[in-house]
Amino acid sequence: MNAGIDVLISEVGPRDGLQSISAIMPLEAKKAWIAAEAAAGVREIEVGSFVPASLLPQLADTAEVVAFARTIPGLTVAVLVPNLRGAEAAVKAGAHKLTLPLSVSETHSLKNLRRTHAQVLAEAKAIADLVAAQPADQRPKFEGSLSTAFGCTLEGPIPDETLTRMAEGLMAAGCDEVGLSDTTGYANPAEVGRLVKLIRGVVGDDKLTGIHLHNTRGLGLANVVAALNAGLDTIDSSLGGIGGCPFAPGASGNIVTEDLAFMLEAMGLRTGVDLDKLLAVRKIVTDVLPDEPMYGFVPDAGLPLGFAPARAA
Ligand code: ZN
Repeated sequence: MNAGIDVLISEVGPRDGLQSISAIMPLEAKKAWIAAEAAAGVREIEVGSFVPASLLPQLADTAEVVAFARTIPGLTVAVLVPNLRGAEAAVKAGAHKLTLPLSVSETHSLKNLRRTHAQVLAEAKAIADLVAAQPADQRPKFEGSLSTAFGCTLEGPIPDETLTRMAEGLMAAGCDEVGLSDTTGYANPAEVGRLVKLIRGVVGDDKLTGIHLHNTRGLGLANVVAALNAGLDTIDSSLGGIGGCPFAPGASGNIVTEDLAFMLEAMGLRTGVDLDKLLAVRKIVTDVLPDEPMYGFVPDAGLPLGFAPARAA
């Protein structure tokens, strides 16, 4: 965990958000967004995905975005990589953190990554070897993300046995850590608590610290509280809640960074985020994407009278 904060907010809007809308944000606007959000105190941003430009033209400039984001002091620059080729590009660009999604629903895996579980695990091993071959001081962190962990829009519920087998498989392949991902917005607080315990039981408490949640059914922030109670300390969210998953139909809506930061600070949990500065970042996005809906309650309602952010004890 970063020094001086209790919960790490990992902004995924420039990746999860922009990949799921058809408009293409210009590189300069992406840079302005990332710089402003980092200046507001967000310490980790998933800035893009190294997928072929033919699949996601919205993220075709990810290498340039990474190169820029790396110049921001104190910012962890995270990217999504679908395979070894993407990981090679990510390492070359100098990303600090690589996330490989593994859909625990094999149907979704075939549709999203065009790979079977065995193929994704082989890819994870190849990426782990690539990471291990880098000089120690330049080695990115490598996380395997268990997507569709709470259920799949194509396959329905995921058996626990599949989930634990995939978590073990990712760790055996050489991932530093696994993450839980509610790609489809099916999670509820009880299930979040249960699955964190289940996965931690097989990989160890320190190998599962983060979760990616969507607000598809309105349970996003309730699920965050359940995740915190279960011991997690890294939460993905998206500015204005933009994003979802283009390959999981109906799975729109990341949890909103502004509302998440407000809730955590109001609960006395330090995020390092300055809420007024964070709220001002929205304008950068709405100016270039005027037709995209931006969500969030705090941006509309404002901060409560006398609101005080969390302070160091
Ligand atoms: Zn997502």
